[in-house]
Amino acid sequence: MEARTGARAHEDTEGPARPVDVAVVGGGLVGLVTAWRAAGAGLTTAVVDPEPGGGAASVAAGMLAPVTELHHGEEALLALNLASARRYPDFVAELAAHAPAGVGYRPCGTLAVALDADDRALLRETHLTQRQCGLEAEWLTGRECRRLEPMLAPGVRGGLRVDGDHQVDPRMLTAALLAACRHAGVRLVRHTARELLVAADRALGVRLADGTRLEAGQTVVAAGSHSGRLAGLPPEVAVPVRPVKGQILRLRDLPDRPPLLNRTVRAVVRGEAVYLVPRENGELVLGATSEERGWDTEVTAGGVYRLLRDAHALLPGITELPLVESRAGLRPTTPDNGPLLGPTALPGLQLATGHHRNGVLLAPLTGEAMAASLTGGALPEPARPFHAGRFTDAGTALRSGVPA
Ligand SMILES: Cc1cc2nc3c(=O)[nH]c(=O)nc-3n(C[C@H](O)[C@H](O)[C@H](O)COP(=O)(O)OP(=O)(O)OC[C@H]3O[C@@H](n4cnc5c(N)ncnc54)[C@H](O)[C@@H]3O)c2cc1C
Repeated sequence: MEARTGARAHEDTEGPARPVDVAVVGGGLVGLVTAWRAAGAGLTTAVVDPEPGGGAASVAAGMLAPVTELHHGEEALLALNLASARRYPDFVAELAAHAPAGVGYRPCGTLAVALDADDRALLRETHLTQRQCGLEAEWLTGRECRRLEPMLAPGVRGGLRVDGDHQVDPRMLTAALLAACRHAGVRLVRHTARELLVAADRALGVRLADGTRLEAGQTVVAAGSHSGRLAGLPPEVAVPVRPVKGQILRLRDLPDRPPLLNRTVRAVVRGEAVYLVPRENGELVLGATSEERGWDTEVTAGGVYRLLRDAHALLPGITELPLVESRAGLRPTTPDNGPLLGPTALPGLQLATGHHRNGVLLAPLTGEAMAASLTGGALPEPARPFHAGRFTDAGTALRSGVPA
């Protein structure tokens, strides 16, 4: 597609919208990084979202954890996650100009611990898988774990030290991306996209909630867990994204005491994952449930109880901290837990969605992949297994990364 260069777009428009090269539906973390990189590639770009900068990232913990998030059968996803994690330091440096207070990037490492014999057997298996994949993780005894993190429960039976799994503050990151988008001339259209416009077998943009049209050479659906709900998506474009609810709590270190933790600590307690992410500003993020409850975002007593119970087993001192926030968000999830990136079977329509529990981690690579495909190039190598057409018959005929 030819870029309409030179024309710096404006923000927060009302009324009839000028056509753009790229209309991104959804201004969560994924839509914003896509728009920023598209604008950086010289494309006039608009983000359509009634509340840009919100979404799941305002709830997320912000672990950048390719190694401790490794699950059986997700080796392709591991390669993608590792590739994105490697890009993080440069990504954060590029955003620095738009984030006076930084984005909370903290290369602090992660400790995954076991509380009983069953947990330890599970963690040993995880360690084996990690080693088979060539990943760096060191097995520690319970005593060694407590030497690293003295406030851990005395019952901790062993753990894995992963120095390469870090964290960022997703709220600060989203705010920086929003500022970067503004600076790059991305137009913020504060409306809901009601319907995809399709004519002559091509996507032409979107109709907004107020009935106006936003015409675009390429439309990108980046609407998180709502991505498959956009009216007008033709049947040959499958967007099998469902919401997976996560409840999460934020606590605060006591002002007169040292922080309870120095690095991210995670565990599987009674079969359920729990993690604690200590921020430099004294916040301690405790997450997260994983629930199949449609688009429900209620915080429940059961969810809060489960998180506090499991965290207390791990870090008894947590009960003394002020509980400052409880939230629930929706992870946009596909059948194979990997994102949907790039062109679809419908010319002019691309997807950037389905990032599930790794959307924050995958931001740098997503931006790069989408800029490549929106300017007519191929997806970068690690993103190719996650091409947008992989769940459709038409999509299997689409060569991954080659725009329709
Ligand atoms: C509890 C929890 C913990 C998490 N922890 C981590 C973590 O530690 N590390 C990590 O990497 N990831 C984590 N994630 C995952 C990460 O937050 C998500 O993958 C990521 O934020 C998804 O971003 P998104 O932009 O695709 O979707 P969303 O954030 O859902 O954004 C979608 C946007 O689209 C807009 N929208 C929807 N429909 C329309 C429409 N019709 N028109 C216009 N706009 C529309 C919405 O308003 C919203 O702003 C976590 C998620 C949760 C819920």
